[in-house]
Amino acid sequence: MDSKKVLIIEDEKSISDIIKFNLNKEGFDVDTAYDGKTGLDKALSGSPDLILLDVMLPVMDGFAVCKKVRESSTVPILMLTAKEEEVDKVLGLELGADDYITKPFGMRELIARIKANIRRIDLVESFQNAPSNIQDFGTLAIDLNRYEVRKNGIALELTIREFELLKYLAERENRVFSREQLLEEVWGYEYYGDIRTVDVTVRRLREKLEDDPGNPAFIMTKRGIGYYFRRP
Ligand code: CA
Repeated sequence: MDSKKVLIIEDEKSISDIIKFNLNKEGFDVDTAYDGKTGLDKALSGSPDLILLDVMLPVMDGFAVCKKVRESSTVPILMLTAKEEEVDKVLGLELGADDYITKPFGMRELIARIKANIRRIDLVESFQNAPSNIQDFGTLAIDLNRYEVRKNGIALELTIREFELLKYLAERENRVFSREQLLEEVWGYEYYGDIRTVDVTVRRLREKLEDDPGNPAFIMTKRGIGYYFRRP
């Protein structure tokens, strides 16, 4: 198997160096950028398999980079956020990041997160040759095998995480799941994040799926409990 390429966009060279060292040791190819603009250029031209993206960066901050990358790519983006900047992770997720890790972080945790996010892409790639398994939910058609979703026949650009959440709920129509359950089932590995990750991903999904995201027809809120999928 080809080695996977990780792009590190982080201006603190000491942090970047230690991450690069550890990723190389794990067999990853690593490219680095020390400001947001160079990072964005490398993200768009270098086709990395995963991007590690710091928030506070010179020239262009991590949020702007994330937003720009998402205009043309669903590559997994793992944001590096500072502990005191609670708002960062939510904003990052809203802009399309897949995951975040809080500084200071342990190298083992970081590597585990990177591997989990990359395994997910491999899984998707293997599914793209799978036979279709399209389920119709009114105006929405979900190909459960191929990670494809169409609304009124038009393909939607979902990130892997968004797709997996949608698939999990749609395969279990009308069953209500708590945020904690969804974190465990959909995010999978020992997730240190908080349940707002689920809320943000639901919000992003609604913006893509629903005619009126404020008054959803597919992904429903059960107040005080969690979320469920309904066939309109
Ligand atoms: Ca920084």
